[in-house]
Amino acid sequence: MKIIYNNILPFKGYIAINICGILFARRECKPLVDWMINHERIHTRQIMELFVVFFYLWYVIEWIIGVIRYRDKKQAYLNISFEREAYKNQFNLDYLKQRKPYSFTNKEKHP
Ligand SMILES: [Zn+2]
Repeated sequence: MKIIYNNILPFKGYIAINICGILFARRECKPLVDWMINHERIHTRQIMELFVVFFYLWYVIEWIIGVIRYRDKKQAYLNISFEREAYKNQFNLDYLKQRKPYSFTNKEKHP
């Protein structure tokens, strides 16, 4: 995975952002640990499955619905389908080898 460490993207307080499969990470977070990279690789797979644009659209729409539903930005973020899948499986470094397509549609709430 291509990782670009820099001081601009993402904004302070965040660690990394995945833009079309390229990972932008804060310089002070260098080097990212393997499970963080695995988390982002899971997102890359989701991004490809949704032809990039639908991933970002769906991501934002689900977040907005979550903010209304949970009245909490962090809970809203953690319960975006893509994040649920990524958080649930980030420590399993072999996850992507066994993953079924479109696994983010699994509707289990984030603990
Ligand atoms: Zn994520």
